[in-house]
Amino acid sequence: AKSGGRDHARMFTPQMQEQQLQQLHLESDLRHAAERQELVLYYQPRIDARSGCLNGVESLIRWQHPQHGLIAPDSFIPAAEESGLIVSIGAWVIREACRQQVAWREAGMGDIAVSINLSAIQLKSGGLAATLREVLREFAVTPGQVEFELTESILMDNVDDTIATLHAIKALGFALSIDDFGTGYSSLNYLCRFPLDKLKIDMSFVQDIHGSPQNLAVTKTIVGLGHTLGLSVTAEGVESAADADVLRHAGCDELQGYYFARPMPQAQFIVWLAQSAAP
Ligand code: C2E
Ligand code: CA
Ligand code: CA
Ligand code: CA
Repeated sequence: AKSGGRDHARMFTPQMQEQQLQQLHLESDLRHAAERQELVLYYQPRIDARSGCLNGVESLIRWQHPQHGLIAPDSFIPAAEESGLIVSIGAWVIREACRQQVAWREAGMGDIAVSINLSAIQLKSGGLAATLREVLREFAVTPGQVEFELTESILMDNVDDTIATLHAIKALGFALSIDDFGTGYSSLNYLCRFPLDKLKIDMSFVQDIHGSPQNLAVTKTIVGLGHTLGLSVTAEGVESAADADVLRHAGCDELQGYYFARPMPQAQFIVWLAQSAAP
């Protein structure tokens, strides 16, 4: 949408025009996606490494587009961020995840912890704490069972403001984790200034860990660092029993990945949960 002439060489190829045109349509469609109820949250189980029981779920957004079918977040979150739509979409995600948590409890499934991905734009928009206070008034959620995931780059940009915002979120009782840990550039002396509860090791270190001494070394280092700072440590992108085993032995507290379960619509998650709880 915004060509801005920054890439003259590629700007006039028919392919690029096609892409930009699609992007333009995508953005204007996205504007109406929420009100047309085309956005859905999928839920991926997070598993306690020791007990093998469900710890909670991560909410992951999808766009059920009337023409293009199910669109993955990587294909529209960047456009949502560029256009600022991420602020309202992100607020919808928070409300929907909290509404769902209450619905599960009312259905007799108990308190299922839900984690929610936050975008940098959302954090900087200034309205986040107000949105959260509103959500707490509207839904009987247990804030300690709602966790926000932020990436390292979000944290390291404008550190003092970020710390203040994170303290406001913590003061409301919510939990905080760093997502994709190890790929950014967290400075260790900042790391302990953030009021965090959890580190999520980036998938690139986790995948095929049983065959990679380097990845294992990095993972063990992150686990040690996390535990030293009093944080719980999650490994995501766990795709095999062998990897799960190695990660458990490396001291990870929580595991998440296709080996356990894929992200699912909530109806499918209920079935999965009933089956996994069955003797
Ligand atoms: P993420 O937060 O790092 O989420 C993990 C991604 O890895 C998800 O992709 C998930 O489906 C995928 N995944 C889970 N287990 C495995 C595995 O074992 N192997 C592999 N190869 N992949 C696995 P997804 O759902 O496509 O989401 C992509 C990214 O989009 C997320 O990365 C997150 O950064 C962003 N995103 C998703 N939902 C939201 C949202 O509600 N708000 C914002 N701001 N961003 C979101
Ligand atoms: Ca995440
Ligand atoms: Ca991640
Ligand atoms: Ca990611």
